[in-house]
Amino acid sequence: MRSPIPDYLTEVLDVCGGDGGGELAAYIPELAEADPDRFAMALATVDGAVYGVGDDDVRFTIQSISKPFAYALAIADRGLDAVLEKVGVEPSGDAFNELSLEVGTGRPFNPMINAGALTVHALLDDERVRRGFSAFAGRELEIDEDVFTSELETADRNRAIAFMLRSHGIVEEDAQAVVEGYTRQCSLLVDVKDLALMAATLANGGVHPVTGQRVVPHEVTRHVMAVMATCGMYDAAGDWFTSVGIPAKSGVAGGLIGALPGQVGLATFSPRLDQHGNSVRGVQVFERLSSDMGMHLMEVPPPARSLIRERTDLPGDREGEGWVFELQGSVNFVGMERVLRTLADEPPSEGAVVLDLTRVHEVRDVGRRMLLEAVRRLVADGHDVTIVDPDGMLEAFPDDHADGDVDAGGGVEVPVLRRR
Ligand code: GLN
Repeated sequence: MRSPIPDYLTEVLDVCGGDGGGELAAYIPELAEADPDRFAMALATVDGAVYGVGDDDVRFTIQSISKPFAYALAIADRGLDAVLEKVGVEPSGDAFNELSLEVGTGRPFNPMINAGALTVHALLDDERVRRGFSAFAGRELEIDEDVFTSELETADRNRAIAFMLRSHGIVEEDAQAVVEGYTRQCSLLVDVKDLALMAATLANGGVHPVTGQRVVPHEVTRHVMAVMATCGMYDAAGDWFTSVGIPAKSGVAGGLIGALPGQVGLATFSPRLDQHGNSVRGVQVFERLSSDMGMHLMEVPPPARSLIRERTDLPGDREGEGWVFELQGSVNFVGMERVLRTLADEPPSEGAVVLDLTRVHEVRDVGRRMLLEAVRRLVADGHDVTIVDPDGMLEAFPDDHADGDVDAGGGVEVPVLRRR
């Protein structure tokens, strides 16, 4: 069978392909020369499938889409607190090139506007940026020297911002050098597949879906995607998040990315921009994808059926001596709450209790803590508790396992069987 997904993506490009209006970014002379009709999109899944359609091999400069990735590298290198000291996480509601500084601290409002991105860049060096971005993309990225030179010649506004940041003591490095380095960062060449994979690396908790390389720690990606959700589309962020609901970032060369946590990275390329500096057709494609494919972050799958799949008698010659609770799905807060409620409302009468995790596909940390609390209370009530965990779901928390037992805390050790 031929996969229908590229056909579907091509159809989306066709539907959104009309001249939706918009203008090329004229303030960077070299970008004003771009072919306005280029149109491409790509989708990369967190397990490494990549689909590209349209002009998906055309390269363009990453521009402001560099901001979330530089931010992620800075947090990975310096720690979140050190970065937060310099740059906030509040939507500014202003245009990307506005000098929006917090009253009192002088910090830029967020890292997605130029003031914040210049500050973040000052925390990195050029080689770290190029190498880090290459790891996000999964291939060596290069600079477009023409765009770099062209933008640097006309970068007075960014220079003004950088000098202003220095005057507030937010940037301590040489202002000119920071603008030069930031402009270089914006001039890295990518195509939509690179961008989709970069976004998928964020969506995948920091591990590149194809190379398997861990690029940044997991907790960094949650933070960065949250800032993309609230600030990634500048002064259109609220409109974007309500209608599309995907953490995103745009660039003035016409690129647009979205990172849907745990699912996919998306990217579009179409150089005509709206008044916010966001790609007109890119926004249309994202609106379409979000509604067609149910990708809005606020639209989550309905909560799983009961986590307890079945309650049965003990098997074989132990029949009548207790109960087996067969769990299924994801052991998270909501699921475990139902288990705890069932155990409280209809407590097993005397005897053994077996908690069977055979059909569980994920144990969240909170779910594990709730499960162990249930174990402690069942033991305190006089039950003889056993956990069946053939896939070692609890082993993701290695501290728990001593000689095949789980330490449930409070001096309670529970046997864990690897087989039913
Ligand atoms: N390099 C561009 C600038 O600083 C990036 C802006 C953007 O893509 N929104 O003006």
